[in-house]
Amino acid sequence: MSALYGTYARSDLAFERGEGVRLYAQDGTEYLDFNSGIGVNALGHGDPHVVAALKAGADKVWHTSNIFTIPEQEKLGQRLVEATFADAVFFTNSGTEAVECAIKTARHYFFDKGQPERFEIIAFTGSFHGRTLGTIAAGGNPSYLEGFGPALPGFKHTAPGDLAAVEALITPATCGILIEPVQGEGGVTAMPAEFMRGLRELCDRNGMLLILDEVQCGYGRTGRFFAYEWAGITPDIMAVAKGIGGGFPLGACLAKGEVAKSMVPGTHGSTYGGNPLACTVGNAVLDRILGPGFIAHVDEVSQRLAWHLQQLQQRFPQFVVELRGKGLITGLKITPPVRDFVNRLRRDHQLLAVAAGDNVLRLLPPLTITEADVEEAVAKIAAAFTAIDAEAKSVPAID
Ligand SMILES: *Cc1c(COP(=O)(O)O)cnc(C)c1O
Repeated sequence: MSALYGTYARSDLAFERGEGVRLYAQDGTEYLDFNSGIGVNALGHGDPHVVAALKAGADKVWHTSNIFTIPEQEKLGQRLVEATFADAVFFTNSGTEAVECAIKTARHYFFDKGQPERFEIIAFTGSFHGRTLGTIAAGGNPSYLEGFGPALPGFKHTAPGDLAAVEALITPATCGILIEPVQGEGGVTAMPAEFMRGLRELCDRNGMLLILDEVQCGYGRTGRFFAYEWAGITPDIMAVAKGIGGGFPLGACLAKGEVAKSMVPGTHGSTYGGNPLACTVGNAVLDRILGPGFIAHVDEVSQRLAWHLQQLQQRFPQFVVELRGKGLITGLKITPPVRDFVNRLRRDHQLLAVAAGDNVLRLLPPLTITEADVEEAVAKIAAAFTAIDAEAKSVPAID
């Protein structure tokens, strides 16, 4: 009997060792990891450059609090500013805190402008922004809100894709629009570039802020450093996390200078956020992500993945309803119940994947995968479909 909260329907499987895209269980069984800790292990397991940085960091100061200057944090912040739309960064320990900071920044920006009544954010059905009271309200998923008292006010939801529906929700109280450019948990839905540009225009026309949640789709995963680049737009605020620490808990809220400037001493804080050890790791991860050819590799290998998945769909049209996603955040809407299918892949084919909403099989491999890894993963999925087919055709036992 576990001493832990029962908040997860955990598998019994426990891993002991990881190397690149492979994980090894306690009994030595090798698994192909197309889950990567739900999109966190962007460099796979045990990246030598990051491991060396962590080891060197362990001999230095781990934590000092944000009362003091943290050179590693200054450096990582500066590098993120240089590589993105942003002028200022706030570091967190998780994605949900990064989104929370984004929401607070947006609200406080208008408060500071003398418009405290402007605090409403338009968000989207099927989204996921984290598990704090603020971010479950932002996500709007009734099953995550139920039982926790009244939802934090100030969020309105509509289905993504319909600009007129978004526009209809704008009132004098609206301060911004919050969206995942590729919805992860909700079912791996990539927003059309046209829709993203439309949201940018709506924000510009109405003096609102565009807030992106790139916690899952950012940091190279779509084949650009950030997914917003595909639409040729920039946000005003953006939450980042999963890939940024490569497995070390780290997140960040990025903002334009004009927007961030109201966040003065006393408005926000975090004891751990951006501590020296976390930022040492974060800098090493960024060395790799922004290293020569890295993101171009993601773009190339994801095109191979897309091609192989199309072949798979043609071969098993009865099982693959739709292919979704962008780059290496990929989804297959399938007909077999997805949780059972994820278990089957793990148990019978030693492939790790993750379920998403709308019965979507989600593939979030490390960004370092090769085409051989892609072929191996797709062959395992094909083998699982073949097995389901064979089971359905076999005569049921009469007992
Ligand atoms: C995972 C996720 C979050 C929450 O991140 P945590 O680190 O679990 O708090 C928020 N937004 C998106 C898009 C995510 O995928």
